[in-house]
Order: sequence, then structure tokens, then C-alpha cells
Amino acid sequence: MYRHLWIFFSLAVLATTPLRAAVTLNGDFDHGSLDESASFVSGDFVQLAGRDNYNAGQWKWLYFSANGVQGQQLTFRIDDDFPGGGSRLNNHEMVYSYDQDNWFFFDNNARSSSADTYTFSNDSAFTSDQVWVAYGLPYSIDRLESHTAGVAASPWVSPTATGGSDLVIGQSPGGIDDIGRVIPQQDLYGYRVTDPSSDGPKAKIVLLGGTHSNETLANLTLEALVDYLVSDELDAALLRRRAEFFVYPMANPDGRLAGYNRSTVQFPDLDPNRHWDAPHYDGLTDIRAVGEAIIADTGGDADIFLDFHSTVDPGSSHFVYTDIDKNMHLHPYWQQVLQLEPTIATFDAALQNDTGAKFGYEQLGVGFTGTFETRFIAGENEDRFVTLGENFGKAFAALLATPYGDLNFDGDVDADDYAVLTTHAETSTAGLTTAEAYAAGDLNNDGWNDALDFGLFKETYVATHGAQAFALMIAGVPEPSTLTVALVAAISLIIRRRSPAAAKPY
Ligand SMILES: [Zn+2]
Repeated sequence: MYRHLWIFFSLAVLATTPLRAAVTLNGDFDHGSLDESASFVSGDFVQLAGRDNYNAGQWKWLYFSANGVQGQQLTFRIDDDFPGGGSRLNNHEMVYSYDQDNWFFFDNNARSSSADTYTFSNDSAFTSDQVWVAYGLPYSIDRLESHTAGVAASPWVSPTATGGSDLVIGQSPGGIDDIGRVIPQQDLYGYRVTDPSSDGPKAKIVLLGGTHSNETLANLTLEALVDYLVSDELDAALLRRRAEFFVYPMANPDGRLAGYNRSTVQFPDLDPNRHWDAPHYDGLTDIRAVGEAIIADTGGDADIFLDFHSTVDPGSSHFVYTDIDKNMHLHPYWQQVLQLEPTIATFDAALQNDTGAKFGYEQLGVGFTGTFETRFIAGENEDRFVTLGENFGKAFAALLATPYGDLNFDGDVDADDYAVLTTHAETSTAGLTTAEAYAAGDLNNDGWNDALDFGLFKETYVATHGAQAFALMIAGVPEPSTLTVALVAAISLIIRRRSPAAAKPY
């Protein structure tokens, strides 16, 4: 509703401006943030002021639109009173968009420590009348809701025990924000991703995001991970048979909607990632609702817990905080992530504060818990976070999915699978799901079980058991049982409970 009012207002201004349109600024929309009263436009110069709703006198999240900018080459400036020090703006680059969907980095970004300013501009004029400008790639509540509605339609997504068919597990408290606006209560979402046709043992994985209101790249990464989990990719389909994911994408929607720097609207002075202390949660209604849902939905028991955050610390790599003293950095899942994302750094966090990661360890007994921190790195656009999220998913698949060629999903590749392959030889798999087609011998998922699939199966079998064993098998000679590959062992490895008494490598 803010946006509509604002457009009406802007049109009224434009109608009375005959020559060059006056540039107007607006931060009053979903996830927007600008101290409009202290910002002004003077010719080609735009002085900006950020909102200091968490650290007094310091801004952190910045997101506004400028109207009347077509053909204008503007220079924006803001002070460098940034939490943790202005040096955190060194090497940072602001972004802009004409549609709030496709984002570009500004050409020129410079912090002056002597002038205590951060200045940014482009080498050419804006090509549209309205431009959105942000500290980093935004992730709005509108985007959360449309993405959640999209995954709700997936056959692999179902409500959790505490949620309804709309995937809503509770309500945020809402409140009045720092500039006097009413922030309505928001839906808190939670959902489960798995293949319901597979009823064997499954690893339980909890994915959390959105505790900190300005940490948008975390949500881009988590969204891409979820998109991978529900995708038709074969390894994702096989993963869904071996794992169930509990996803809570936005623990603090009020702060996100209000454009806050870090906190919730209910408790603007508290860091919500220091109050995941069940059963009290220090009165933070949203954190408590999500925490209680996680415990109820998982039965207080899970194997892996990942909490997605973003950081503004200067640096060049994304990183995880995990408990190195407990050897969590050696956990097979994290080692799989590092195979796919070797530049991710691993830092120690001793699980002392009441963070989401500590909550996962203490309340769910997971073997691996981590706070994954994306960085706002100049030049890393949305496609980078899509790849990052997919790789988090592919690491789960590499760890948990059934071996390629295991057509009956019993954890090994053997003569029984060969029997499945030949039973369905030369048949169509059109109309089947990816996993169903695979179970009918369509290994390459091209709609048929044919000679190509025989070739793929042979390749896998020979790689595992040798050419001679394959020749004996197709001749009908029983295979030695010692040649089976035990996937079940891999699952039990990951789902074994931690034990304080036993020194385990993970
Ligand atoms: Zn955070």
C-alpha cells in the first residue's frame, strides 16, 4: 500500500515539473530502508542517510528507489558510520536495478576515510525513469512469499507437523517500527522436502534462514538450495529418497519487511541470533515460534543443522562458523561441501552464544551444525548464489543419495538391479517422475529404458565390481556377496548420534 501511495505522490510531482523532472527518493516499501528526512537531492548530487535502528548512529541496510532519473548521471553519497567501522565499506560496491529483479553493481564505489564518506556513481546516465538502489542484492518478503507459494505446489513439499497446507507454522508479532509505521504480523513458514514414496531410513536435515533482517544473500543461497532439492535433477530425486529436509526460510520477517539493519521489530535493540535459548527465547515471539516448530516437527532429533546468514566483514570468501573443537569441520557433509566449494573458509565458533547453530546442537543433537556466512562481495551477483545453493544441495546428494545404478534403492548395485533393468528394457518412462523413471531403468532420464541405459549400468557395475563380474552376472552366474556396496553404512555414519564419551572424527 505504501508503494501505491508513493506512486500517486510521484506522479503528482512529475505533473507539475515541465522540464527536467525532479528526482525523488523513497525507502517506504517492502524491505526498503532510507532516512528520507535526512536525505536530499541537489542537482546531480544525492546525499543519503541511513536508518540507525540497531546500532545508534550507524546505518547498515540501505534500499530505496529514485524516481525521475532517466538521462541523469547521479552521484550518491552517504556517511561511513557503519557498524564495526567504516573500513567495512572498503571494496564494497552498491547495486542498482530498474525492475527490482535484475541487479547491477555501480561502476564507481569509493570510501574516503578522511572525509568519512562512501560515494558511488555510474559512468553513464540511468536509462529508465525509476531506479532501485541497495547496499546489496535485496530479498523481500514479497519474494519469500512467492517462492514459498511456488514450492508449496511441488509434489516433494509437504507441511510439517506444526504447519497447515499453506506451510504457515506461526505468526510474527509485528509492531511499530523506528519510523512509526505499523508492521503487520507476518506468516512464519516451515515445510518438509522429501520423496514420500520412500519409507526407508532418512537423514534429517534442518535449514534455517532470515534471523538477521539485512542478511539477504543468505536467503538467495537458501532459496537456490531449496530449488535444487525439489528439482527434477536425478541426484536430487535420489537424495529425496534418502533424506528429509525441514526448511524455515525466514525467522524474522518483521525486520525484513521494515528494512531493519539486524534486529526484529519487536525487540529492536536485541540481536535475535543470541536468543535461540529454548524454551524461553527471551520473549522473542518470532524466534520462539520457529524454534518450537523446529523441535516439534523434527521430534527434537536431527542429523545436520544449517543456519544461513550474511556478513559485512571485509574479505574475499564465504565461510562457515562451526565447532572445530568438536571436529565438526571434519564432518562428511562439510567435507563434501568443500569438495564443491573449495574457497569456503571454515572458522571456529564454540557454540557459547544462543545462536541458531547452538540451538541445533543442543535441542536436536545434530552431528554437524553451522552458521553459514555469505559475504557481500563486489561482483558476485545472483547467479553466484544460485550456484552456491545448488552446491550445498549436491553435497547432500553426494553424501546420501543411493549409488548410481541402484535401481531398487536397496543401497547396492548388484544382480537385482540388473534384473530391474532388463525387466523394463525397451519401455517408455514418459509421464513418470525422475525417480520412478530411474527405478524403471531409465538411468539417463530421456524417457526410455534402452541401450544407452544398459551402457550406463554396465559402466557403473564394471567400475565397482570389474568387467569379469559383469560378464558372469549377465551369464547368470551368482555374484559374490562381498562385492556389494553398502550405502546403508553411509547413512548410518551420518545419522549416528554424537557421544561425549567417544572421540569421533565428526
Ligand atoms: Zn547473521
